[in-house]
Amino acid sequence: MDSGAAVAGAGAGARAAEKLCRRCKVSYDPSGNTRLSCRFHPSLFVCRRHDDQKRYYELRDGDPPYAAKFYDCCGAEDPDAPGCTTDLHRSYDDDD
Ligand SMILES: [Zn+2]
Ligand SMILES: [Zn+2]
Repeated sequence: MDSGAAVAGAGAGARAAEKLCRRCKVSYDPSGNTRLSCRFHPSLFVCRRHDDQKRYYELRDGDPPYAAKFYDCCGAEDPDAPGCTTDLHRSYDDDD
């Protein structure tokens, strides 16, 4: 009952296991993780009026007060807007 094949162990040349970033949901190579790798918004996408009348949204006449939807960090109004901050990717294994 000899299978003949050695148990696959730590094979040379094996690719580093990729990890999934819990922040940007991208899989990445931990060995190439730099402070510029992860692009994200540090704050949430919110839906509320800009109380402080910042530059990025002005309610027009007829807009309900909840018309403004934007990232609280940078004011981007597109949910798919690229992140305004970069940092190391963080996997689900990492502590915060
Ligand atoms: Zn990331
Ligand atoms: Zn942002």
